[in-house]
Amino acid sequence: MKTDTGDTPKVLVVDDEAGIREGSERILKRMGCRVLTACNGHEGLDILDREPVVLVLLDLKMPGIDGMEVLQRIRDRHAHILVIVITGFATIETAIEAMKQGAYDFIPKPFEPDQLRIVVDRALEKLRLTREAEKLTRERAMTLADLDREKSRTRTIIESLPNGVVVTNAQGQVVLTNPAFLAELGLPLDKPTGSMIHEYVPDEGFCKLVMDISQGCHIDFDDIRPYEFGVSGNRYLMAYAKPVLGERNECLGAVANLTDVTAWKVLERLKSEFVAQVTHELRSPLATIHEQLALVLKDVMEQAPQKDRHLISRAQEKTRGLISTVGDLLDLSRIESGNVGREVKPVAIPTLLENIVSFLNARAQAKAQTLTLTLPDQPLPEVTADPMALESIFGNLIANAINYTPEGGRIEVRAEIAGGAVRVAVQDNGFGIEAKYLDKIFESFYRVKNDKTRFITGTGLGLPIVKGLLDALGGKIFVESKPNQGSTFTVLLPVRPASAESAPM
Ligand code: ADP
Repeated sequence: MKTDTGDTPKVLVVDDEAGIREGSERILKRMGCRVLTACNGHEGLDILDREPVVLVLLDLKMPGIDGMEVLQRIRDRHAHILVIVITGFATIETAIEAMKQGAYDFIPKPFEPDQLRIVVDRALEKLRLTREAEKLTRERAMTLADLDREKSRTRTIIESLPNGVVVTNAQGQVVLTNPAFLAELGLPLDKPTGSMIHEYVPDEGFCKLVMDISQGCHIDFDDIRPYEFGVSGNRYLMAYAKPVLGERNECLGAVANLTDVTAWKVLERLKSEFVAQVTHELRSPLATIHEQLALVLKDVMEQAPQKDRHLISRAQEKTRGLISTVGDLLDLSRIESGNVGREVKPVAIPTLLENIVSFLNARAQAKAQTLTLTLPDQPLPEVTADPMALESIFGNLIANAINYTPEGGRIEVRAEIAGGAVRVAVQDNGFGIEAKYLDKIFESFYRVKNDKTRFITGTGLGLPIVKGLLDALGGKIFVESKPNQGSTFTVLLPVRPASAESAPM
């Protein structure tokens, strides 16, 4: 079947009267149509088989095969073609019958050009609207097919991800899982969606996190920390969860991405054990070397020439550096193995700070610095924590203040109550730190290197240790610093130790 898709509609006039054919042809051409004519029904039907006609003007009363029959065949074989019947006054009933048979309109004979124009115009408009509607339907079908293809493509990607993915709705019901998720949790691969999250994941902390996110507690999701939990078979999963937001930033649910971190944890543990073992083995011989070197060299130093004295004091400094590195590494491995905060007890912060300050005062005095401790008038509450961890925290911060402050500088340690916590600030008027390094100094082995700090020995492990210990104790650290003006490291210590269930968030 041929249809006219162009802008010039093709019209066929079927009439045995030459006058009607020619008259109609003239009018239709002026209306911008391409016109074909036939003087009987057979000829008309033949043309329709060959040409993409959209509209037929059909005389009902013709010799041979009559108009009604032609109309029937057009309806059967070319249902899309509109037919306008032309009929004499005497056959108006036939015209009505023709309309019932599916003719679009009729026009009585004889007719004025305007009458024909109006009827044909209406038919062409109807054809145009039909074409438009068909086009829209086709486009809609295509868009739906595209969407469907896109959906199944996304689905395939999610299914083939090596990480587990689970999506919940705002009520916390699971609406999507992938095979990796089901495998990680040891669930049957055909487990359907639709149940609450705790039917899939047996970890309370994870389910609480997902429920909180699903119910919109974390629209500003920068504060959502990765959550690690154990599953059967001594395996560990790390979950990165986020809210699924709608167009108006409303929370539609949560999506969690789960990575199996068992191998990584095993490696980490082995590494920590190795470092702990090696540093432990190194510490006592090193300390012995250092002490014995000091004893032997005390006498030798006085008689030794200037050059040798310099070399000897460098060697001493290096062994002291090594001892402190070994100490730092031991602290780090204690933090990594989770061995911090095991021996908690109530600690009086003023006494602890007094001891550290008086111990480090000798170092400050060697640099002609003033090191002061200011305590509040009212008594500070005792902090329940591991005293070794607290010593390490403040020892590191005060030692740093001494190290990174020039001769004659001022270091002030202040302790006070801050709500339900104890706040300790270590302030110096030393070299300071540029703003761009303030985050970096808490990374392992990171040291700011500039003209002033280049010759100060250190490992870059002090602040990561401080941060690690504070994390374990549920405390916080803040730093404010300006180059050449000084730095203030402020520590907030909770009075009670961090409880296990507050760990995930
Ligand atoms: P280390 O002191 O062994 O280098 P840290 O982790 O304690 O390692 O400190 C990291 C870096 O932070 C130091 O190298 C130093 O550049 C900077 N820093 C730490 N404390 C201060 C301070 N009070 N003033 C200026 N810079 C500091």
